Amino acid sequence: MESLWNQTLAELRSSLPLPEFTAWIACLRSARGADDGLTVEAPSVFHLNWVQQHFLDRIRSTATQLAGHPVAVSLSVGSGIPVRDPIVAASSPPVIRKSAAPGHQGFTFESFVVGPCNELAHAGARAVVEHPGGVYNPLFVHGGVGLGKTHLVYAIANAVRQRFRNYRVLSIGAELFVNEMVSSVRRQEMERFHQRFRKVDTLMVDDVQFIAGKERTQEEFLHTFNLLCAAGKQIVLSSDKPPRDIANLEVGLRNRFEGGLTVEVTRPDRDTRRRILTLKATQRGIALSGEVLDYLADRVRAASVRELEGALTRLKAMATLVGREIDLALAEETVGRLYPVTRERVTMERVESLVSEVLGVPPAVLVSDQRNARLVFARQVSMYLMRKQIGLPLAAIGERYGRDHTTVLHAVRVIDARRAGDPEVRRLVTTLEERL
Ligand code: ADP
Ligand code: MG
Repeated sequence: MESLWNQTLAELRSSLPLPEFTAWIACLRSARGADDGLTVEAPSVFHLNWVQQHFLDRIRSTATQLAGHPVAVSLSVGSGIPVRDPIVAASSPPVIRKSAAPGHQGFTFESFVVGPCNELAHAGARAVVEHPGGVYNPLFVHGGVGLGKTHLVYAIANAVRQRFRNYRVLSIGAELFVNEMVSSVRRQEMERFHQRFRKVDTLMVDDVQFIAGKERTQEEFLHTFNLLCAAGKQIVLSSDKPPRDIANLEVGLRNRFEGGLTVEVTRPDRDTRRRILTLKATQRGIALSGEVLDYLADRVRAASVRELEGALTRLKAMATLVGREIDLALAEETVGRLYPVTRERVTMERVESLVSEVLGVPPAVLVSDQRNARLVFARQVSMYLMRKQIGLPLAAIGERYGRDHTTVLHAVRVIDARRAGDPEVRRLVTTLEERL
């Protein structure tokens, strides 16, 4: 005899819209429960909550009907159920493919939102398009993951191609460069490899940090670099770190990389996040109210641009899945869970508001990317208090400011030192500690 759960599943499969069933119900498992009840296991807490809110009544009534007597259904998180992302799983395949491997054609200057986080990088990129092989050679763009480096590099490539139709523009990820070189060596086709990389007018290598530590590749690249530079050809590079921080990068290359214009892209501030969301929503034909835009720009903070896009993708997928308009409530349900207001965050905000009050720096500026001596100091004091007084995790503090834990450690050391050496700083920090 089929178990009650299997019958319930079959019934739900035929009565629920397929995407919903696939996303939320199909992966539930029944565990041994009481005789008159069902215990159903979900792969994650998130999944469980969702099922509880949206499907539990339905499951219970279906099971009750099938059994012919009241059936109690309880949910728990099961171990060993493969965790899939139900939202992404349910969204249509093109959406997934698009976010996983964006086509580079879409990476243009027109679709690049400029803000304080990237204006220098953007200006450098524009200048390169105006005068390829001019003073900014190479243009070296660095910054964290998902902040628009690849977008900028390909925007340059696209724009140069358009402006100089006869130019040979070669843009390539460093990983591919390495692979091509290795296979050329193996097949003894170095001549062809040289032809390919040395006979160009503009060479762009994305994620160039990837060649560090690979001796032969670095040698080859340095040679290519020198030849192109000497011939006045433009080179554009991107990397997740500035040249001096790339481990195992050959000194010759490092010097070369630093010899042009080095620009950084950082996390977008709130206003830029909002403009990016507006643009991306328009591009994807998603209608968002000002209220929802505000909510997303506020909530998905400390985030990369890629995460902003992810939030939009989810929101759109969820709206389709449950057949609802995208409004504030749906945004809160969908995105709020991923970016919860944690106790940690409440604590951080308390520290920040105190530091703001005492040092006269607005809280919004404190968490922005703006830099001047006073701001940097205020931020360091905040980090110091979060760490030393409250004991929050280094990584969590770092994330709040878009930095990693070493920055937090550094801040703690700086304030400790200044506290020891400067009576005024000592007084200030003591006051803050007392008021916390
Ligand atoms: P990175 O190479 O720095 O990891 P990408 O260039 O791949 O990041 O950017 C990730 C995603 O964010 C891409 O889809 C890109 O279009 C988008 N993006 C990043 N910065 C911007 C920006 N300033 N304006 C519009 N889209 C952006
Ligand atoms: Mg990239």
